Amino acid sequence: MRVLALFLAILLFSSSAFSQPNIYDIVTIKKEIKELKEKYKRDLVTGEEYEEILTLLEKKLTVATEYQKKREEKSYAQKEFKKAQKLFDYGDYKGAGRIYDKLLKKTYPQKQFEYGKDLYEKGDYDQAPIVYRKLLANYPESEWADDAHFGLGMVYYDLGKFDKALEEFTKVSESKFKSELSFQTTDMIQKSLLASYEIPQAIRVLILQGVPKVKIRTLKGFKIIDLTNGETITFVSLDKPLSFKRTQEGIKIKGKKVHRFVTVPLKIIALKEDDLLKINGRGYRGQVVIRRDKRGRLNVINEANIDDYLYGVLPYEISPAWPLEALEAQAIASRTLALYRKRRSRAKDYDLDATIFAQVYGGVEGEDQRTNQAVNKTRGKALTHKGKIINSIFHATCGGHTEEAKNVWQGSEEPYLKSISCTFCKNSPYYAWEKRIKERNLRNILEEKGLNLSRIKEIEITEASPSGRAIKIAIKQRKATLPLMANNFRLFIGPNLIRSVFFTVSKKKNEFIFRGHGWGHGVGMCQWGAKGMAEKGKDYKEILKYYYTGVKIEKVY
Ligand SMILES: [Zn+2]
Repeated sequence: MRVLALFLAILLFSSSAFSQPNIYDIVTIKKEIKELKEKYKRDLVTGEEYEEILTLLEKKLTVATEYQKKREEKSYAQKEFKKAQKLFDYGDYKGAGRIYDKLLKKTYPQKQFEYGKDLYEKGDYDQAPIVYRKLLANYPESEWADDAHFGLGMVYYDLGKFDKALEEFTKVSESKFKSELSFQTTDMIQKSLLASYEIPQAIRVLILQGVPKVKIRTLKGFKIIDLTNGETITFVSLDKPLSFKRTQEGIKIKGKKVHRFVTVPLKIIALKEDDLLKINGRGYRGQVVIRRDKRGRLNVINEANIDDYLYGVLPYEISPAWPLEALEAQAIASRTLALYRKRRSRAKDYDLDATIFAQVYGGVEGEDQRTNQAVNKTRGKALTHKGKIINSIFHATCGGHTEEAKNVWQGSEEPYLKSISCTFCKNSPYYAWEKRIKERNLRNILEEKGLNLSRIKEIEITEASPSGRAIKIAIKQRKATLPLMANNFRLFIGPNLIRSVFFTVSKKKNEFIFRGHGWGHGVGMCQWGAKGMAEKGKDYKEILKYYYTGVKIEKVY
């Protein structure tokens, strides 16, 4: 084989162009092909070898033709060409073929694209764009330029550079070629568009639930994005709010000279970053999403960066006048709780609501410079236990002992929510309290909740936790006794009347006297205790580690 190859090489290239200055002598290569064909006719080569060499020469011709056009690549190609020739002369057709293939990749736009795509699929986000850009520089008019733009778009999209991705996808959609990519491109344009509006570290808070309409305005205008297809409508400078009213199919937007119909879900974004969205007159940072609930009413969800959200939460959770270390402890507890809920609500339309059952959230109006400072100083810090974000619940005042979670909510047992003694909340106005309720009133309230009762003779605590909180109570009547979970009893009567289940109960004439300690469920951090600790010179780390057993404070973003 080798001998034959050598013989062939001498035969074919004795007058070859390779010894001459111009290796791209296409006429010569064509002559070589012609000669090869003649040798084959005269039985000087086998069929197998003829096929192999012919393929090779055809590749060589393509490469030479391509490089003829591009001067800048010539010197590189010249070297490679010589290498290939040497391999050919030694009968290494495969080796020579590999070099021609490599050169082809650099010349053919299709090959170049496939090479780029290969790199992209291997996750090489540095090299893939270089190959795509080279293709665009060499073949700006080629149909493959569309593919290169699309490929670049995918790289940017994966890297989270949605604006740049959008630019590339738009180029494909505006191309003069009727690209096969058009369906995928429309899809990616929509995806990038929506992704480009996403807020980093966003939390989704339900601020209005099941309303028939909502009024929205900004000072400097806003845009509405249809989340089903990415279409946008822009409203520039509105001197009056627009009303969004639900209809059978979607939403009717009405305002001065404005009359439009849109579909839901939709997202509303202020045009200027420093502008606030006013929802029914209340200002919010971030964006707003409107969705329909199962009954077709509107749910209004504020999507805000978690720290922006905390600005609006802290002043409602704690007094901004309290010591900074207590505010910082609260900022971390609130941030942790929001992250904990966020991680458990991915499949839902929102992460939290804005009521006392989640965290009270008042938007921008309630913000205070001191609580904002506490949020900023602790940015990204959260509580973890064995590497996981904890359910960092808290309450106003424990009244002497915090409570284990399992004694309040059946089935919830967390190693970091232990009962600990706390004397730091002694100055809380709710450290000790008394509530008198007439038998008749008490019975009325419970009957309103659907309980069937006769005259209450006595209320007995039948089970209490080691910390002293009632777990079960018995409502004794003349003939019957109604057992009740103490926590439910508290919620039935009203959590602001019976401030905790940390109570004893006695009866004097027609009145029940509840004497209790603390306000709230008693689980996790005692907020008044945090204040007390800060006043005694403890820092936020000491406070948090006191109330949450075995936790770490980590920077999570
Ligand atoms: Zn306490």
